Amino acid sequence: MSTKTTSTPTTNTTTHRVPNFSAGPATIPTAVLERAQSELLDWQGRGMSVMEVSHRSKEYVAITEKAEAKLRSLMDIPDNYKVLFLQGGASLQFSAIPLNLLNGGRGDYLTTGAWSGKAVKEAKRYEALGLGAVNEVATGKDSNFTDVPAQSGWSLSEDAAYFHYCANETIHGLQMFEPPQVDAPIIADMSSCILSQPIDVSKFGMIYAGAQKNIGPAGLIIVIIREDLLGQASEWCPLLMNYEHQAEKGSMSNTPATYAWYLAGLVFDWLEEQGGVAAIGKINQQKADLLYKTIDDSSFYNNPVAPEYRSIMNVPFTLANSNLDKVFLEESEAAGLMNLKGHRDVGGMRASIYNAVPLEWVQQLVDFMIAFEKKHA
Ligand SMILES: *Cc1c(COP(=O)(O)O)cnc(C)c1O
Repeated sequence: MSTKTTSTPTTNTTTHRVPNFSAGPATIPTAVLERAQSELLDWQGRGMSVMEVSHRSKEYVAITEKAEAKLRSLMDIPDNYKVLFLQGGASLQFSAIPLNLLNGGRGDYLTTGAWSGKAVKEAKRYEALGLGAVNEVATGKDSNFTDVPAQSGWSLSEDAAYFHYCANETIHGLQMFEPPQVDAPIIADMSSCILSQPIDVSKFGMIYAGAQKNIGPAGLIIVIIREDLLGQASEWCPLLMNYEHQAEKGSMSNTPATYAWYLAGLVFDWLEEQGGVAAIGKINQQKADLLYKTIDDSSFYNNPVAPEYRSIMNVPFTLANSNLDKVFLEESEAAGLMNLKGHRDVGGMRASIYNAVPLEWVQQLVDFMIAFEKKHA
């Protein structure tokens, strides 16, 4: 593993690229896009693009195998886990999880924000069909999802088939850095925090993540699942959503999202060049610390999330005077800082600072925030 610790490349001299804080689809490393651009028309000297070849061709399969191997190495994924590259977004997994894993048992769900809320809501539909029981163990709703309810108050099932939670609530900016200690196999939605810092995969039964936050393009979803959890899908489970079937087929039961998969592989190469997950994790922490310090040092800005759960990927913040929201967005955009508008459920601003956002962009944002406060406070 390289020990290079330079931050991510920003722009070259010919291309116009701006600081982009979009929550998703999100910014992709410029170096990756340049590489994709350079081989778009003529991939590997074949006179055609990677989009224009069979997904079953030897050359394409080699790309997918390399992408999987890179991801396994970056995340240190143990051999008894399958890695699937599927479609339908993280949202389709809200259905796939009960269809594959409920199996007449009980699914425990912790609700800490919008995404885990949608997951339990979707699972309840399968409870209604008789596939098993769905139990919301606790919800952080009373705190407006700024805190995680204490585990002593959770109503955990005795023999749960699984325990589902969202490791990083993209909208509320609430991150659980360690999985909770429960007996059931843990399923984590890591759509907006996968590869952002080292984790111990062996603590999880299943991890899933849509690609368009921290990996690359939309249209691809990664499922990492422990082998002993395969093989219990309901007969209602559509074949394409059946994890065991997709594992047997190398995620190619039908045509996969070939270009997105290829691009994900380029992002994994790039991440390795940055020094891997531990190295990028350090930069992510610096970016988050810088932004939260700016917010906390001022009474003009506010972030309501309990400090131990503040996300290092999505940082929502409000202005003390919400009448200035519009002005903030206009002036930040004029300064070339893009996509800072908060989600409508939370309001205010949100800066998403995924792996592909370099420290310099966050520094520019912080400089802008300090200047904006001076001007308008
Ligand atoms: C974006 C997101 C989703 C939904 O992803 P889709 O690809 O739109 O289905 C689910 N969970 C989390 C945590 C997300 O950030």
